[in-house]
Amino acid sequence: MDISIYPKKELLAKWGEDRKWYEAAAGKPPRCLRCGKPLPPKLSLCALSRYIDVQICPGCGTEEAMLDWDGKALPLWKWHAVLTAGASVAPAEGEARLVPVCGFSEVFEQPRRVVCGHPNGFPMSELCYARADYDGYRWHTTWTRCRELPKDAVLIGEVDGFYDALLALPEFENLHALAKACKSYAELPAAEDRSTYNLFAETPHFYVWLRLITRERDYNLYCHYYYKEPPGEDR
Ligand SMILES: [Zn+2]
Repeated sequence: MDISIYPKKELLAKWGEDRKWYEAAAGKPPRCLRCGKPLPPKLSLCALSRYIDVQICPGCGTEEAMLDWDGKALPLWKWHAVLTAGASVAPAEGEARLVPVCGFSEVFEQPRRVVCGHPNGFPMSELCYARADYDGYRWHTTWTRCRELPKDAVLIGEVDGFYDALLALPEFENLHALAKACKSYAELPAAEDRSTYNLFAETPHFYVWLRLITRERDYNLYCHYYYKEPPGEDR
């Protein structure tokens, strides 16, 4: 399974088009993807974004640096080019996409199933979740089962395939990369807690909720899987 993070592909594609302007430099320069103001007429006068491999205007370069100094960033999904774009690039066949908005909030309204050792229980449709920490060298994962495992090996393969692809992303290479990715792509955290973020995804049979905690010496990742439709023998 491939996983992409919204709107990385969109911005890289747009910048791939925009930067061609600098080959001939005729007419008006393209607009800064971050703020929408015109870019400088020379590529060398632009600033490289610290969150994605595109050039932005010098004002945005300074603003990124100042926000970063304060531990903040403007998420990429709030960039001008993304807010004003029409449709997003559709995910490729078989690709899951991480997005900052939950498209399955009904899951959290479900009655909860109490499981021994977990007094708050789990939403009825939750199959399992992975909890992992990064120790500075590698990820350590433990799985918790919330329901009977499905008999269909395809479903198990989907759970494993998503998780393996997730940890293989460059954004999960270490905690520093994860913190940067959270600031770039994830749902904005509550004001009082700037180290806990959410991302959401769908695979063919599951909704997936990622809770990401960028603090050291803590659990750094929870990856919850909810059935879209529980299999017949296990409703
Ligand atoms: Zn700008």
